[in-house]
Amino acid sequence: MTLHHLDCCTMCPLGRRFINNQQHLVGHVLALETAAGDVVLVDTGIGTLAMAEPQRLMGRQFTTVFRPNRDPARTALRQLEALGHAPADVRHIVLTHLDIDHAGGLRDFPTATVHVSARELAAVRDRGTFNERQRYRPILWEDGTQWAPFGNEADGVDWFGFTGTRLLPDMADELIAIPFSGHTRGHTAFAIRDGDRWLLHTGDAYFHTGTVHPHLGPPSRYLRIFERGVAVNRRAVKENHVRLTELAAGHPDVTVFCAHDPVEFARLRAGQQI
Ligand SMILES: [Zn+2]
Repeated sequence: MTLHHLDCCTMCPLGRRFINNQQHLVGHVLALETAAGDVVLVDTGIGTLAMAEPQRLMGRQFTTVFRPNRDPARTALRQLEALGHAPADVRHIVLTHLDIDHAGGLRDFPTATVHVSARELAAVRDRGTFNERQRYRPILWEDGTQWAPFGNEADGVDWFGFTGTRLLPDMADELIAIPFSGHTRGHTAFAIRDGDRWLLHTGDAYFHTGTVHPHLGPPSRYLRIFERGVAVNRRAVKENHVRLTELAAGHPDVTVFCAHDPVEFARLRAGQQI
């Protein structure tokens, strides 16, 4: 398996100078190329349609606050084409959650099977809270999307003390979904085997690398307030921070990273450790 780190949602949010001098946020997508030539995507970033019609597809609030870059060359579709892939090569997409900046590229891959937790799909269906009514944009995916919900803990597997779910028979020992509810109801992290190491893509389980890797400095107060403000369960978010910090400190063979931190993205893209 060959692994690519792609930034498929570069954002320059309002007030970004308060985010520890980080001038932008990334949308960290993983593209896993299998030996058979297929591709598995972990998240999609935002896609070509959303970039072409940002206000209709992503909404005025998201585009005004987060100000995503709209260069189509940054989409997963175009970056995979540059790697020699057709859209139909993407057989599976696994999603940390269904926020715009993670699921906004689904319509570029209409033949893919889309794996997302059953709890996250239920959150979109129920829209039980103000938070959930505001955040989801079902217009970003096709009516005919081939959803493959997961979340049956009966077939759980132990991964460094976390209970996860194997999603794809062909990658049973290489890709494990681990529930991390908090940012959203059905938020999920994905463990990916990379040789003799593991990567853990934690989506939006945290926003600044210093939250989990303290040697890189603490997140700003502004970012911590933002993180609490967008979470459906703040206590769970705090608990997740503790669990992830312990995991990263105790297991040097596991690389823990999040979706939006540009420092983590730059280091992993360059083949370095965090
Ligand atoms: Zn996000």
